[in-house]
Amino acid sequence: MDLSRIERVGGSLCLDFVNTRASHFDPAAPEYLAGYADLVEWLRGCDGGLDARSASRLLVAARAHPRRAAAAFAHAHDLRGLLERVFARRAHGHAPAPADLHALEREATAAFAHRRLEAGAQWQWRWDEDDALERPLWDVLASAVDLLRHGDPGRLKQCPAPDGCGWLFHDASKNRTRRWCSMRMCGNGAKARRFQQRRRDAGN
Ligand SMILES: [Zn+2]
Repeated sequence: MDLSRIERVGGSLCLDFVNTRASHFDPAAPEYLAGYADLVEWLRGCDGGLDARSASRLLVAARAHPRRAAAAFAHAHDLRGLLERVFARRAHGHAPAPADLHALEREATAAFAHRRLEAGAQWQWRWDEDDALERPLWDVLASAVDLLRHGDPGRLKQCPAPDGCGWLFHDASKNRTRRWCSMRMCGNGAKARRFQQRRRDAGN
């Protein structure tokens, strides 16, 4: 699949990562990322994701260690499931399941052990290894913890069932009225179905 065509409507790196399959409501929905190289390419196109140099170093490392790259991709897949559960519950006003909270804490603690503080005009966190195969997961985890700590839970939403796809997104609209992941993908389809239903109702 052409990774540049994947919609990034979540409003943050971690939510866009969760939204890398076509629907959260349909277990048979297509997956967008087929392997580790896709994960790296996808992250390279994200705000706050990988720069070109880090991405090419990761791809070289993945080719040198294909089994470790496959394990990192499987780990990313599990992390996506974990984040989907945590953010979906939060979007509906629920606390995470205790097992998920502990799992996220474990993942984040392991990732953040790789942070180093870099002094400069603006101090910042840097990862200690640019070409560690788990590095894409660290970026996703940093984004997730940042959003959980600082994001407004009232603006975290899920594209609704039954017409929507379950994607998670940050509603930045002035009056918090955004309902769909995007009008083009789900909103227009729902509109069209309501229109058809009204026509059918009117015909009865
Ligand atoms: Zn949707």
